[in-house]
Amino acid sequence: MQNPFNGWTRRYFLQGAGLTSVMSGLGLRPLSAAVNDHGIAKGARRARRKIYEELGLRPFINAAGTYTTLSACVMPAEVVAAMEEASRQHISIPELHEAAGKRIASLVGSDAALVTSGCAGALTLATAACVCGSDGDKIRRAPETSGMKNEVIFQKSHRFGYDHAIRNVGVTIVEVETAQELERAVNERTAMLFFLNSADPQGQIKRQEFVEIARRKGIPSLIDAAADVPPAENLSAYIKMGYDLVAFSGGKGIRGPQCSGLLLGRKDLIHAAYLNGSPHSDSVGRGGKVGKEEIVGLMTAVELFVKRDHQATWKDWERQVSAISKAVAGIKGVETEQFLPVIANQVPHLAIKWDPKAIAMTRDDVAKNLREGEPRIEVRPSAGNDPRLEVAVWMLQPGEYQAVGKRCAEVLKAAAKQA
Ligand SMILES: *Cc1c(COP(=O)(O)O)cnc(C)c1O
Repeated sequence: MQNPFNGWTRRYFLQGAGLTSVMSGLGLRPLSAAVNDHGIAKGARRARRKIYEELGLRPFINAAGTYTTLSACVMPAEVVAAMEEASRQHISIPELHEAAGKRIASLVGSDAALVTSGCAGALTLATAACVCGSDGDKIRRAPETSGMKNEVIFQKSHRFGYDHAIRNVGVTIVEVETAQELERAVNERTAMLFFLNSADPQGQIKRQEFVEIARRKGIPSLIDAAADVPPAENLSAYIKMGYDLVAFSGGKGIRGPQCSGLLLGRKDLIHAAYLNGSPHSDSVGRGGKVGKEEIVGLMTAVELFVKRDHQATWKDWERQVSAISKAVAGIKGVETEQFLPVIANQVPHLAIKWDPKAIAMTRDDVAKNLREGEPRIEVRPSAGNDPRLEVAVWMLQPGEYQAVGKRCAEVLKAAAKQA
């Protein structure tokens, strides 16, 4: 029997008169009042339906980070509760989009905000807003954009896997490298200038100069900052810097629903973005629909995010990094260090390195051992072949870091013996 009280917080729980007797009638134990930071009501596990196990799947400890293929994040209990609450009644989607957008905008200090299906969804709607605006004929015609402003300028080093979300609108991407080339590339067909925040170190034009050129030329600018909170200040930093549109993932550091994203920025462009997507059926963005649950879920996640004690969270991450480091520290040939990825996923991580002469195992072998062992553990996918494992702690649930330390130590020790 599915537990009908999944994700309820203490407040909701206490509001229900006689719930305890109803629950015992269903053979369920009452939930403990305590709900941990990751949305798991303590003591609730036993009564839950094991959906993944039913499907023959094995859930894992996420020591990798907010990767879409790994289902990114687990939402806080308050977010799950808000989504459940939202699911109980019918509501006008246009009215909800507007009201939630207003609340989010005021929380993050933006003119306007739109809940999208993800950062990729936000990129499509933002581009459509710059190409079609609020013009019904153009909105219906896209991605056929002949005669419209349909060029988007990128720095060459900012081309990336998600630029398909921009190309979906039927635009041509024009590549430049220097500020001079950028100025020369702007013409009457230029719809938008795009900046990939995490590529800032690779490009010759930095984010501040880029937005200044956009403003001087009077062309709307969009910055993709999908995975770039924390730091929490980034939520408002690029608006303040002058970007017309800023896109974030809802299901990464903000820990909202996996199928949610945030488009922030200028009121007229946000409204146009809204017109270019759901619930408007004949629009290029209609496939990126969000429901009432995602809209309310992301709004709640943003409320929590701006209130969170980010310093305390940071300290807790460092404590977990250090505990995992200690668990493997005694193994011969093993070295560890705490590191911060640059820009995206900028939170404390642990690197575990080993001497291949002492431990004859590749990083893929170690990752495979962790994936196939018990409990199943995923570590951060990283490029290269050097003997080094990257462990993320920010998506771990309470108590999981001990298991990560223990399993890493077991796998490395077993290999050390064989060497
Ligand atoms: C994750 C990511 C996206 C896509 O975000 P979704 O919320 O999954 O749609 C886009 N751009 C960058 C840079 C990302 O890291």
